Amino acid sequence: HDALKKRKIAVLGSRSVGKSSMIVQFVERQFIESYYPTIESTFTKSVSLNGTTYDCKIIDTAGQDEYSLLGPNHAIGIHGFVLVYSVASRKSFDMIKVIYDKIINFCGVADIPCVIVGAKMDLNNSRQVEAAEGEALAKKLHATWVETSAKNNVNVAKVFDLCLIEIEKQVPPSMPE
Ligand code: GDP
Repeated sequence: HDALKKRKIAVLGSRSVGKSSMIVQFVERQFIESYYPTIESTFTKSVSLNGTTYDCKIIDTAGQDEYSLLGPNHAIGIHGFVLVYSVASRKSFDMIKVIYDKIINFCGVADIPCVIVGAKMDLNNSRQVEAAEGEALAKKLHATWVETSAKNNVNVAKVFDLCLIEIEKQVPPSMPE
């Protein structure tokens, strides 16, 4: 029978990039036009991938700026990170590198399982960040990358599949679950 693995995933990024909408779309399969300004909350969902069931805890963080974005709760005991920017906000894209560096420094490691997400890809008329830029940044940070639309439910589940795959790459088989 399938193995069961517990995984904690933190979703980080600037305010209003669409973190909550993405998680709610993934967990509850709905898009709420105006979700409450995020209070930090945790969602759970089971994900089956390659014959394994992952019991996922997804942490929707509520940081408002580069100083409060990453507290101790967001780096300790976390298996993987989802870093979100909005394709319609250059500023939120620039924040990804800042957040990434903070995680690396905080964890004291060279590399972390990480997916970089360009959210709101449906906002093509107000796009400020090209797909190629997102891809290039991810390559530089040894992360995977994907663009999503929570509104149209495009690539939302893929974000979490990719994150679980990234985690799987880095968790040594002998490590306790
Ligand atoms: P958070 O602060 O990062 O959690 O962002 P929210 O999930 O609260 O979203 C901020 C705003 O962006 C809300 O008004 C959402 O309705 C909107 N939004 C979120 N995802 C999308 C998307 O995929 N497409 C569009 N067009 N708007 C989105």
